[in-house]
Amino acid sequence: MNNVLEILWIILIYIFIQRIVWIGMGVMKKAASATQRRKSQAAVNEEIEAAKEDLEEPIEMVTSFCCNKEIPRRKAYQIATEEGMAHFFCSWQCRQEFIERQLNETNHEEGI
Ligand SMILES: [Zn+2]
Repeated sequence: MNNVLEILWIILIYIFIQRIVWIGMGVMKKAASATQRRKSQAAVNEEIEAAKEDLEEPIEMVTSFCCNKEIPRRKAYQIATEEGMAHFFCSWQCRQEFIERQLNETNHEEGI
């Protein structure tokens, strides 16, 4: 009889300890996911800040070589010249026309 009681007690204590461990693990998991959420929120904030800076960055304008139009540098087609400069063009077509003209001139000079 005494033995049975002892075993029951051991089982009860075992269950009790297990409960505490479970609760402890749950709390830790919650804390971990909260930290992760905070981290990803920080990452999102950083991305937003970067995007804002991108927007606030002034748009560099250049004058197109072909038709003297003011165009944003990012959208301009360009050719590097022999002097290390760049010619900007409003369109791919303008750029091609310039290249062809250059080629014709060179051919004339060389007498082809
Ligand atoms: Zn043009």
